[in-house]
Amino acid sequence: MARYVFKFGGTSVGDAKRIKSVAEKVKQAHSEGHEIIVVVSAMSGETNRLTALAGGLLVKPNPREMDVLLSTGEQVTIALLSMALGALGCPAESFTGGQVEILTDSVHSKARIKDIGVAAIQNCLKSGKVAVVAGFQGVNEQGHITTLGRGGSDTTAVALAAKLKASECYIYTDVDGVYTTDPRVEPTARKMDSITFEEMLEMASLGSKVLQIRAVEFAGKYNVPLRVLSTFSEGNGTLITYEDDGMERALISGIAFNRDEAKLTINGVPDLPGVASKIVGPIAANNIEIDMIIQNIADDETTDFTFTVHRNDYHKAVALLEEIKTSLSAKKVSGDDTIVKVSLVGVGMRSHSGIASKMFDVLASEGINIKMISTSEIKISVVIDEKHLEAAVRALHKSFELAGRPVL
Ligand code: ADP
Ligand code: ASP
Ligand code: MG
Repeated sequence: MARYVFKFGGTSVGDAKRIKSVAEKVKQAHSEGHEIIVVVSAMSGETNRLTALAGGLLVKPNPREMDVLLSTGEQVTIALLSMALGALGCPAESFTGGQVEILTDSVHSKARIKDIGVAAIQNCLKSGKVAVVAGFQGVNEQGHITTLGRGGSDTTAVALAAKLKASECYIYTDVDGVYTTDPRVEPTARKMDSITFEEMLEMASLGSKVLQIRAVEFAGKYNVPLRVLSTFSEGNGTLITYEDDGMERALISGIAFNRDEAKLTINGVPDLPGVASKIVGPIAANNIEIDMIIQNIADDETTDFTFTVHRNDYHKAVALLEEIKTSLSAKKVSGDDTIVKVSLVGVGMRSHSGIASKMFDVLASEGINIKMISTSEIKISVVIDEKHLEAAVRALHKSFELAGRPVL
């Protein structure tokens, strides 16, 4: 007997028929004698529908109430899936995040898991039932409902697998594994049988939403055996591997992109010690994550400071920057929320030079202007106009020969 965590995303539980077929899959594993914990997302489109409902009522919904609202999506699915399992003769019990005691901090809409209670689920499994857990939600110390950020059900699944020492965590989704890039943007993208943890972390952090970044972080920290695979077709999916098997890795393993970026600039900042912290400090204090940062060399004793944030935080960040401008006697604040970030990722790039220049050549030959650049040992990211996203991804995928050899 083994213990598994299965996670099913929104499309996989998108309607009654799909919930039934998920129930059949779960029943099959349960009938083989395994202990099964199922984590589910809201039915596809539901989180967006709920967000739009609140948006139709007011511009800035109360964050606490927003989490109460969004958490209902997953609550619907756990009830329906448990009923579907019961109808198949497979005993199951549903649990909200609060019922499991998924304890988080209090940062509504992007809360972090601090601890997970095991008693409720252990009892459920002991009595021979499948535990069906709502993804994406938890409670803070005061018992208020919190949510874990978009894609957060992945993190619920991996965190549960770590805490309950599951043999494996399977992330069932609407693609059959992790590809060299999003197959919806580049149809020749190639599925990988395995990907190193390091690369998966980088891909997820750079926008490949097939796994939420925090799920990958958890998996790495607790060494959770993790696999991404399709709900709708057979196959082994993609395994996330933690040990370096000493094999020479591909130069580039994939291309990630993030459409949720926005860029802000504060011009004419007096070039004095401490200004960077006076700009970044208030932004971070408001729970806005800053991604890329560029500070120009000063000429007239003033400097320009540019950084990127999540698009959802754009208007809040502009307002904060206006205040900072006044307090620092800077000249101007400007911004652009129609930009995207495209990144090449690969551990093999460590030992090779010339990748950045090839990337810039490819983009130049497509007539694509690069607005910002950032590099690390295993990735190169550029910020470009959103209208060039597809062209950039396809051109890079082709030039770096990621599609692999055609099958004859
Ligand atoms: P779920 O609802 O199951 O959590 P998501 O929509 O969150 O599914 O994630 C799956 C989607 O991730 C795929 O449909 C695909 O469009 C997208 N995706 C982005 N990058 C990749 C990649 N490198 N490999 C596979 N899928 C990717
Ligand atoms: N329902 C949430 C979302 O759409 C969480 C998830 O699906 O992982 O982002
Ligand atoms: Mg997802």
